[in-house]
Amino acid sequence: MKNLFGLTLAELEAELAPLPKFRAKQIAAHIYKHGMKTFDAMNDLPKNLRAEFSTRFEIKTAELLKRLDSSDGLTTKFLLGLSDGAAVEVVLMRHDYGNSVCISSQVGCQMGCKFCASTLKGLERNLTAAEMLGEIFFVNEILDNVVDSVVVMGTGEPLMNYDELIKMLRLLHEDYCLGMSYRKITISTCGIVPAIKKLRDEKIPVTLSVSLHAPDDKLRSALMPINSAFGLKSLLEAGDDYAQATGRRVTYEYILLGGVNDTEEHARRLAKILSGQLANVNLIPFNPVVERSFSPPTNHAVKKFFHFLNTHGIGATIRKEMGADVNAACGQLRAKIKT
Ligand code: SAH
Repeated sequence: MKNLFGLTLAELEAELAPLPKFRAKQIAAHIYKHGMKTFDAMNDLPKNLRAEFSTRFEIKTAELLKRLDSSDGLTTKFLLGLSDGAAVEVVLMRHDYGNSVCISSQVGCQMGCKFCASTLKGLERNLTAAEMLGEIFFVNEILDNVVDSVVVMGTGEPLMNYDELIKMLRLLHEDYCLGMSYRKITISTCGIVPAIKKLRDEKIPVTLSVSLHAPDDKLRSALMPINSAFGLKSLLEAGDDYAQATGRRVTYEYILLGGVNDTEEHARRLAKILSGQLANVNLIPFNPVVERSFSPPTNHAVKKFFHFLNTHGIGATIRKEMGADVNAACGQLRAKIKT
């Protein structure tokens, strides 16, 4: 059966042709505004049409396999099952400024970053736009329609799944869907330079987050294999260019790995390469991943790094880690929940 969830209005119209276009509008409203999963309750459709649709179509999002609530009372991790048996994790974070959902863009990841759990088993497959949207809708339903912002920062490299990602973002933004402002959406990338350039030209001013993690090519290549394909110079140029074109400040994420990239000298070099950019830095103290041998930084090192950047012209924040007790923090997501 054809799944209607995740289709755009134009796709729904094509699917329902030769029925008049207003039928597609009605169905879009039922699916995206009213969260309906069956056709029976779609009272504005004639009964015979409802019956026919029930035999031809389905409205399917994801199935809950497991839910883990962090003891912080603010973070919940969901393991969702997809139609082919694959599973992805999605994390809900209740901040004082609103509810944010962190979604996955792929099952597994091929990027091979040395500190991350999501890439340990490689890439299984890309998620479709419908599946990514389904992650958001799943949480939205649980929250009674109060997802305020979306971060594409879960498992996977979103810019390696470019077309489906863009389709999902445009759909999410549509008034007949959640009507989410692009400003409430953040895409995090390990630095796929050509895709950053393409994203700049899409005219969808989402916030770009770039996982930087090192202030020089040698260290960055050792931590992140992608750096051998697209080095720091081209990445920073693409980031600057994105900021100029969209007017949106780029966030550079910087994991602090104890004794590896967390000294004052690293902070100095980081401030130097980012000087003059419309950018800020989000420091992420390393979250332990059992298979990885890195250590978290000391509190002292975090504070010193933070202070150095802020007193040398670079706005920096320290990421408040949420959900580490249920392995829901950055870099701890994987396809199976082991906790
Ligand atoms: N592929 C994208 C999005 C997923 S990772 C990207 O690379 O940006 C989301 C963020 O978590 C990235 O900044 C990533 O580098 C960071 N991260 C990965 N493993 C981590 C860990 N063990 N501790 C803290 N942050 C981690």
